[in-house]
Amino acid sequence: MIGAGVAGMSAACALAEAGFRVQLVERRGYLGGRASSYLHPGVNEVIDNCQHVLFGCCTNLIGFYRRIGVADKIHWTRDMTMIEPGGLRSVLGPSFLPAPLHGLPRLMTASAFTWADRLALGRAFNALMKPVPRDSTETLKDWLIRHKQTEGAVIRFWRLVIASALNAEIDEIAVPYAAKVIRELFMNSAEAGSMGMSTVPLSELYAPVTPYLEVCGGRVLLNTHVEGAEWEEETSQWTVRTRTGVVMSDFVVVALPFEATEKLLPHLPPSEKADELAGQIARQEHWPICSVHLWFDREVTELEHAVLLDREIHWMYNQSRLQGRGGNYIELVVSATRAFAAKPRDEAIAQALRELAEFFPRVKEAKLEKVVLVKEVRATFGVPPGIDAARPPAISPWPNLFLAGDWVQTGWPSTMESGARSGHLAAEAVCGAVGEPRRILDADLRPRGLMRLMTR
Ligand SMILES: Cc1cc2nc3c(=O)[nH]c(=O)nc-3n(C[C@H](O)[C@H](O)[C@H](O)COP(=O)(O)OP(=O)(O)OC[C@H]3O[C@@H](n4cnc5c(N)ncnc54)[C@H](O)[C@@H]3O)c2cc1C
Repeated sequence: MIGAGVAGMSAACALAEAGFRVQLVERRGYLGGRASSYLHPGVNEVIDNCQHVLFGCCTNLIGFYRRIGVADKIHWTRDMTMIEPGGLRSVLGPSFLPAPLHGLPRLMTASAFTWADRLALGRAFNALMKPVPRDSTETLKDWLIRHKQTEGAVIRFWRLVIASALNAEIDEIAVPYAAKVIRELFMNSAEAGSMGMSTVPLSELYAPVTPYLEVCGGRVLLNTHVEGAEWEEETSQWTVRTRTGVVMSDFVVVALPFEATEKLLPHLPPSEKADELAGQIARQEHWPICSVHLWFDREVTELEHAVLLDREIHWMYNQSRLQGRGGNYIELVVSATRAFAAKPRDEAIAQALRELAEFFPRVKEAKLEKVVLVKEVRATFGVPPGIDAARPPAISPWPNLFLAGDWVQTGWPSTMESGARSGHLAAEAVCGAVGEPRRILDADLRPRGLMRLMTR
């Protein structure tokens, strides 16, 4: 297994459970990839490289957490507090009504939206009851215009909640991906839309992965950068070359982001179909996510998390409350914008503080004790129309070598769930290759209420 992000770890653990002796090879000194934590030397604090949220519909990620015994370390909530500059709050969340109406009462009374916005959103949700064809070439922006969405609905819901979940501008999002997010988070069931956050730093969440693999006869090789691999036809074995030696294996799963996979391609055996894969990778594009980690001398809000309206900072996470840590640690997340990522450090931090004070006035009296700005330039891949053709399946052009990673063909946007799904699909492919097919992919949650009557 090359790469110990969510994709590599979930594939490795599923294969270990299926009886394989897995070697998990990772270039960094810790597990988790883009969803990890580390000790930041500047502030002497362990921070997640960014807050990572999951939802009830992330069945494969939850399946991976269950497999390694950490599912109880996720804190779940069904409420989403939206705050306007000045502090006015609206809380979205489920009611007693059956799906997909469960979120309607709170949406219809949310002060964040005018009546025109609420009606526009109701109209859009209604339109999304019908499945959107996967090959639709329409952008979310055009779809919103066609469905007469008001400015308030676009800015406060579609841009903020949906585009930031997909981490791209609305004119660069394919409608089927936006529709998937809406259906899963707001329509299928209250359970599917409930939001989960780790109560421990991310890399701590994966601590059981190493003993899990070792008990099954496998091992984890950290600080091991893979540079290439050769296939030996006679012995049906791969020799994986790393900067520090070689690793022999009957099967290889390349669970890398698309840019690292691209770098590996010239160092794999020649294959005509490799050009096709290279062409698919060339169509992938990165989007950045920034996070600002702030430690104050006092508590600035009692909320665990909130969606911040009409400003560049989007999401507030109260890490002291969520992770039960000492101090007053607030994390702000800015997604779906290249402009913020391009700002100089001091300017970005000053803006984040200024904006935060508009939502939580206590920030003005509080003393900032320390701060970290994390810019993840290669956070996620985009999902523009036509992207599905650029997402390869687990089966690769090479014998006994399979692909995983959030960017491969899973139907999900760039998320931990997509990583976990890709890992489980690759594990299924390996089991199939040894003639012992087994179902590893965790089933989707069943839609509830009236949504059971809708075809997907
Ligand atoms: C800032 C930020 C915020 C995000 N927020 C969310 C969120 O809230 N919810 C959500 O679901 N998703 C979120 N994501 C996306 C999520 O992190 C990714 O979709 C997911 O972690 C991808 O997992 P992966 O295993 O496919 O890839 P990666 O995590 O990138 O794992 C690949 C691994 O391969 C290793 N590697 C690379 N090259 C080599 C090599 N040559 N040899 C050996 N190892 C190598 C890397 O070090 C890495 O550990 C966020 C991402 C970022 C960056």
